[in-house]
Amino acid sequence: MPKFRPKTTKRLKHRAIARIPGRPAKPSPKLSGGGRRVSGEIGEIVRKRAEAEAAIAEARKSHERLREAIDILPQGIVFLDAEGRYILWNKKYSEIYNRSSDLFEHGARLQDTIRIGVERGDYPEAIGREEEWIAERLTKLYRPGERHEQTLADGRVILIEERLTEDGGVIGLRVDITELKQREASFRLLFDSNPVPMIVCALDGERILGVNDAAVEHYGYSRAEFEKLTIRNLQAFDSELPWAGDHSSDEQTARTWKHVRADGALIDLAIYSRQLVHGDRPAILLALMDITERKRAEARLAFMAQHDSLTGLPNRNLLRQQMDDILLHTRRGAEKAAVLVLGLDNFKAVNDTLGHGIGDKLLRGVAKRLRSTLREEDILARLNSDEFAIVQSGVTRPEDAVLLARRLLEAIGDPYLLDGHSVVIGASIGIAVSPGDGEESEKLLKNADMALSRAKNDFRGTFSFFEAEMDARAQTRRKIEIDLRDAIQNGVLRPYYQPLVDLSTGRITGCEALVRWPHAERGMISPAEFIPVAEETGLINALGGLMLQRACLDAAQWPDDVRVAVNLSPLQFRVGNLLSVVMDALKQSGLPARRLELEITETLLLEKSSQVLATLHALRSLGVRISMDDFGTGYSSLSYLRSFPFDKIKIDQSFARDLGSNRDAQAIVRSIISLGMGLGVTITAEGVETEAEFSCLRDEGCHEGQGFLFSHARPNAEIVNLLKAQSGAGAEDEAALVA
Ligand code: C2E
Ligand code: CA
Ligand code: CA
Repeated sequence: MPKFRPKTTKRLKHRAIARIPGRPAKPSPKLSGGGRRVSGEIGEIVRKRAEAEAAIAEARKSHERLREAIDILPQGIVFLDAEGRYILWNKKYSEIYNRSSDLFEHGARLQDTIRIGVERGDYPEAIGREEEWIAERLTKLYRPGERHEQTLADGRVILIEERLTEDGGVIGLRVDITELKQREASFRLLFDSNPVPMIVCALDGERILGVNDAAVEHYGYSRAEFEKLTIRNLQAFDSELPWAGDHSSDEQTARTWKHVRADGALIDLAIYSRQLVHGDRPAILLALMDITERKRAEARLAFMAQHDSLTGLPNRNLLRQQMDDILLHTRRGAEKAAVLVLGLDNFKAVNDTLGHGIGDKLLRGVAKRLRSTLREEDILARLNSDEFAIVQSGVTRPEDAVLLARRLLEAIGDPYLLDGHSVVIGASIGIAVSPGDGEESEKLLKNADMALSRAKNDFRGTFSFFEAEMDARAQTRRKIEIDLRDAIQNGVLRPYYQPLVDLSTGRITGCEALVRWPHAERGMISPAEFIPVAEETGLINALGGLMLQRACLDAAQWPDDVRVAVNLSPLQFRVGNLLSVVMDALKQSGLPARRLELEITETLLLEKSSQVLATLHALRSLGVRISMDDFGTGYSSLSYLRSFPFDKIKIDQSFARDLGSNRDAQAIVRSIISLGMGLGVTITAEGVETEAEFSCLRDEGCHEGQGFLFSHARPNAEIVNLLKAQSGAGAEDEAALVA
């Protein structure tokens, strides 16, 4: 059982004490008083005696000084001669042994005073074993340097230390350590019965010197096992000791530490350490608070704050943190990271029809499949109800992201068996790649999300990359969409008309209706800007229908030999009611079908849809003429010319532009013209701006021209005047249009 003594205790120190001469004998009475004989011997004797007396007086004086000196010492001191007789002792000594002090006198033997004391019961430890105790006590007396404790009848505890002197005597020191003993006992009590596990270990070498019951219980080691351990053996990781670097005695610091119990379980501890003295050596007292539960609760909370409770995947917060780490790497190296945002198609329908229970199971199933498709180092997170984010690191080319996107879509696509239902769900993916599409997690996620919207709008079940302009475009498009909806509803959109001119006669054969949008803030907005938006949002059907109606109504007021051309978007063919829209427009305006020309582009024929061809044929059989617009751009188009009997081919304005400078352009224009003639199709050149272009085209045999040289697109009122002038005047006046 270890003994503890708070470190502050001062150690008992030996004081060097001058050798004390034996007590001088009393002066002989024969010599005192003096004689009257005045012989030489006597004189000698008297002189010697005087000398002796002076020496004695001197010795007494120094004896008194010594007594005074030892009396002020805080310890008890006793001097014994070689036979164990009392020579000298101080006040403190008498005080300590107050019950036996009547026994002390010069020349008395210690062993006798002890024996009397024992018989009187001055030493409770001796009771019942008196002789034995006295023998032990006396052996200790002549064992130099050894310390022992002695309990007195009144409960005081005395520390005894005795040393031999050169002449065989003994110097004994006595210290009253009663208070110290009491403190030690209460410390002992505090240590042993403390519910907090406590360990005392050596400051150097880390050996465990003592443990309390709570520590035994907590760690599951027996006391014997503990004694073979060092504090390092308890630590879960070989790291610094909890008090390393902190040796200041009174500082109490708590450190958190991981220990291993005897059963192998890891425990989290808050350790309070304090330096103390154990026996004679510096030691550390450790109080160990088990905070395993608290740590676990903290960890649970932290996890919940960063994860989605349904799938257990990281949430947006954690995703951003993890992304930031990855992006830091990609910013330095040549590697990229791809962010894929995956959205489930029609997830709401699953929830609505099969219930939220199945919806939740589906999400868990999706999460599981996604996770197992990814590599360990890829991040998967759930962004919101039906969107997941994947961060693919180590990407070198965009194709890496494409491959992953395909694998993910494939993995998700297989049916899920949920509560007896076979559920199929598709997904779309938007991809943004750092650093090109953004260097911050927030921006990358936003851009991937934008790419996702596009993937969803275009065709579901596929993926789409973020494009740089997408961002800015998306903003203005959104605004245009809102304004355009209003403009269509409020009848703000209207057609302008651009004449088509017969190149040989100079007469206006027809006018193309081009939509115009006078915008309150932005002035006239170009159709090149808003037609694509109308197509994306489906507004094109309303817009196209409106243009057809207005153009037919306007053209019905024009001379009977002037046609009107209306542009059609491929999307208007998808809806399926185009034929009836055209018929209604004709019927309401009273315009004969032969005076209506519909312009379509090659893109319509790309799909090779039989429905499109059927509609075209049906329109044509109404008597409506069909023109191929923007011919010569994009795909090479001869096959399209064969797939449908067009009435007119409009050569794209880029050819007119190149006629003067580019021989190839001239050759192409020439061959298109001869092709058209062969097929019996009218050929119209778009974008005629100069006399030179005009005469060149006319010389090549092109039938019609359209362009700024003849006229810009104009409001109907102006066109009406122009046409009036044309039918009223002769051929000479018509040339005025050209000039
Ligand atoms: P597009 O069908 O090729 O129409 C001809 C475009 O060329 C018109 O532009 C016209 O103003 C322009 N243009 C005419 N002559 C010249 C010329 O000499 N030089 C130059 N540089 N340009 C000339 P706009 O009105 O801006 O229309 C652009 C496009 O918008 C049209 O091209 C057409 O594809 C589309 N669009 C216009 N109105 C409608 C419509 O009502 N419905 C549909 N679906 N599309 C329309
Ligand atoms: Ca056109
Ligand atoms: Ca055109």
